[in-house]
Amino acid sequence: MTLSEMRRILDEGGIQLTKSLGQNFLHDGNQLRRIVAAAELKPTDRVLEIGPGLGPLTEQLLEHAGEVFAVEKDARLVSILLQRFADQPKLRLLHGDGLEIVRADASEWAGWKLVANLPYSVASPILVELASNPHPPERMTATLQLEVARRLMAKANDDDYGILSLLVQIRFEPRGIFKIPSGCFFPPPDVDSACITLVRREVPLLPEELRATFVRVVKLAFSQRRKMMLKLLKQEWPAEQLNEAVSALKLSPLVRAEAVTLEQFVALTRLLHG
Ligand code: SAM
Repeated sequence: MTLSEMRRILDEGGIQLTKSLGQNFLHDGNQLRRIVAAAELKPTDRVLEIGPGLGPLTEQLLEHAGEVFAVEKDARLVSILLQRFADQPKLRLLHGDGLEIVRADASEWAGWKLVANLPYSVASPILVELASNPHPPERMTATLQLEVARRLMAKANDDDYGILSLLVQIRFEPRGIFKIPSGCFFPPPDVDSACITLVRREVPLLPEELRATFVRVVKLAFSQRRKMMLKLLKQEWPAEQLNEAVSALKLSPLVRAEAVTLEQFVALTRLLHG
């Protein structure tokens, strides 16, 4: 889908784009192909796309996957998509809120891949929600704000490491990142963008029943970045239990959360659970 095609469709529909919905459409064929390549699609794959917009990525996904479930919040775009893809039996299009769809209690994504150029305002909650699902997707290839992408990829001691990194990496391994220049979107966004790939861990690092404790530990540990982790955790756990846990993990009692690895948070969760 070229830039001039996009402009024509928007002009014909008399559509003014809505900034709050993050409507920056990707018109660069090379970047679209890179995204699809990163998703490693097979003809039998089922793909969830949140925010199809005018459908430049949808088009490619339909070519490479077995089924595409696309959720778009803007009714004007849904009508355009219905016309554009009227003869596409592989596409299921839903007018709705992608965040609500992934939050739905009954949602199960184990047999799915997420491939999306996400609306930036809800990109992090969507990825955290999917990573927290007991049946998360097999792979997530998402285009989002570069700053958020860096947080998702970050490891202990990186500047961008924090709650978002841990809540997603507990279930997904970061695999790759590439930047997408602003000029590849219409209109160009004010922020830099990147596409990241996250692959579901074959074996979860923690059993499902410990997830809530992991989230409590991580959120409290990072509640004040510059403070010692032990001091912060003392708000919820007895000092004795914490001291024993920290010494069992050979962590310094002075350590800050930003220096504690994912694996150490996992071990700490096990020791503090119950
Ligand atoms: N995938 C298209 C592309 O690459 O050109 C559009 C991407 S654009 C960054 C984000 C799209 O998400 C827009 O079409 C916007 O209307 C839609 N959107 C915004 N918030 C949404 C939400 N909560 N649920 C579903 N779609 C949403």
